[in-house]
Amino acid sequence: MSHPLLEKDLLSTCVHCGFCLEVCPTYRLTGDENNSPRGRLRLWREEAAGRLARDPETDFYTSECVGCLACEPVCPAGVAYGDILEQTRHEHVSAGRFHPKPELRLAAQAVRYPALFNAALAPARALRSLGFFPHPLIFPGRPHVTESTAAYARRLMMLHKPTGPRVALLTGCLMEAMFREINFATVRVLIDNNIQVVIPDEQGCCGAFHEHTGLDGVDELREQNRRAFLPLAVDAAVSNSAGCGLALKKTLAPDMPVRDVLEFLGEIGIKAREPRGGRVYVDLPCHLVHGQRSPGIPAAVLDATGYQWELAPCAKDCCGSGGIYNIQKPKNAREILAKKSAFLNEAEGDPIILATSNHVCMMQWNSAKSLVKRPFRVAHVIQLLDPNCRPSK
Ligand code: SF4
Ligand code: SF4
Repeated sequence: MSHPLLEKDLLSTCVHCGFCLEVCPTYRLTGDENNSPRGRLRLWREEAAGRLARDPETDFYTSECVGCLACEPVCPAGVAYGDILEQTRHEHVSAGRFHPKPELRLAAQAVRYPALFNAALAPARALRSLGFFPHPLIFPGRPHVTESTAAYARRLMMLHKPTGPRVALLTGCLMEAMFREINFATVRVLIDNNIQVVIPDEQGCCGAFHEHTGLDGVDELREQNRRAFLPLAVDAAVSNSAGCGLALKKTLAPDMPVRDVLEFLGEIGIKAREPRGGRVYVDLPCHLVHGQRSPGIPAAVLDATGYQWELAPCAKDCCGSGGIYNIQKPKNAREILAKKSAFLNEAEGDPIILATSNHVCMMQWNSAKSLVKRPFRVAHVIQLLDPNCRPSK
């Protein structure tokens, strides 16, 4: 019997043109063909067709992929690299060929129970809100320790009674449990722009975490979110995290539109903030520009922050976060980040803010503070639009 990926013709669409090589961060780091999209596809195809025995080298090169999806939009043959990687990772985990780190396995289990996960991370929220950031990936911020985003949104909705479009917000697992100040800022900015916000109570993790690790659980989580979102009478589901937004798009399409919250705000015409000092460098999450194929964060939204802004150099290139890559492959992730963040040493502006729209990219950028010689802040663009919320120091 042939391999399922061959049956679906997924592995045979590559025409070996090599257009994907130069956008691939692992190929650029190593110059190794096997560490490129084309090389990985060839290894998987040869193995699936029975011409290559199961080989530790294939396992290694599969594990090296960041999952940034930069290879997809440049591919003239339309190779569905992300789908192939997701299925291959899952197969490799099931067969014991890829071993997600224990902390990732634990987190993948924990996020299936949002109430428990939120309760378990309450001490971490408390530490952050007191100004303690015990890990380089944990960026500064002051999350509410006890009030959930759902309760906060209900309170603000009753107070301000917006009358505009109605959206359902994905609050996420790590975002809500650890970085919920970004969710609170999102609710404030939406309501401030006359948008009605609904937080589906029964929503769960988007499943992106399980896609990245190859662990079981994606189908159950997608089904849970279909039950939570689809019965709602809303104009769109919105997400403030590019990776979660991509996963939610796969889950709800074609039954409900899913939009990145900044994209949505750009379309309705957002209120502008007063001009402010400092310079914002905008980095674009891979899962926004490659995964969701978005042109990026709308210029009108960035103008509305009141800051002077510009795109970071190579803004569409991966920062090394890759969802879980900076945990699973910290050395590679740091090498990618070191190259990408070097411009900050010479960047103009005081203060300097590195802004993006994905909390896991923010974590990765925060860890660049030990690579860059001058101080800079990390912020989500939604925080720059929020009059009540200062970007992280
Ligand atoms: S997903 Fe990113 S790291 Fe992986 S092969 Fe494609 S470009 Fe390279
Ligand atoms: S760009 Fe597409 S077709 Fe060309 S080598 Fe890469 S994966 Fe294959």
